[in-house]
Amino acid sequence: MTLYKLSLVPILSALLYANPQCYVEGYPNLVVSANEHEIILKSGEKFPYRTTASKETWNQKIDNADLATQLEQSYDAGGFETPPPYLHSPGRLRYQPFFKSLYGKDKKSIEKNLVTIEWPTLKGNTKLQVSKVDGVDKKLYAIGQEIAKLPKADRIWAEGATTYCYRVIKDTDRLSMHSYGIAIDLAPNTTQYWKDEASSETAKIGYKNTMPLSIVRIFEKHGFIWGGRWYHYDTMHFEYRPELLAPSCKGKI
Ligand SMILES: [Zn+2]
Repeated sequence: MTLYKLSLVPILSALLYANPQCYVEGYPNLVVSANEHEIILKSGEKFPYRTTASKETWNQKIDNADLATQLEQSYDAGGFETPPPYLHSPGRLRYQPFFKSLYGKDKKSIEKNLVTIEWPTLKGNTKLQVSKVDGVDKKLYAIGQEIAKLPKADRIWAEGATTYCYRVIKDTDRLSMHSYGIAIDLAPNTTQYWKDEASSETAKIGYKNTMPLSIVRIFEKHGFIWGGRWYHYDTMHFEYRPELLAPSCKGKI
């Protein structure tokens, strides 16, 4: 039974949700076409939809994800807070060349795309550095304005926001999405991170979260996914990933 679950669920999920059109729908201003073979960006750059690197184990998938792998796990936008199934972390499987092409190939070119936005806090506005590519800055500004209208009990979870920081993910050599200026962490001192409980990607981890869904839903409406919908929960973390929220990719709404 366990073997059946481990092998069939990812295949079924890939068949149901992995559709190259998600890229065109998610990034209509940046991706001009996508099919089972390749994706063509507005810049003229092309990427294969699938690469030949091994993706059999979870660790191989994390290290060798391609554009097809990136869509393999469906993101439950608008869903209620339920502990995600074992290893279901939609958005954590990332094909880095794609993001480098969109937001900048290195620190210098990424920083050329950064702008400063105002982010409301309970003590007044603070400033955050965000990418202007695809209007991410405007989207994050709109999110801040909407969160500011929530009751104080919810708003406190949007305090202490941090965005751009050029760095790798803890204990890995994979570039963090904060390095592109398209991710934000909220309430970093009072939220939950899976690595505080386990060190191995494939460990059995118990789910924890305190981030209110009122905040999560505002982010999802504007193209951001939440790390609290991951088996490898990172409940402070939100990142701009409109391909996972595109109509062709939506699991459950
Ligand atoms: Zn983060």
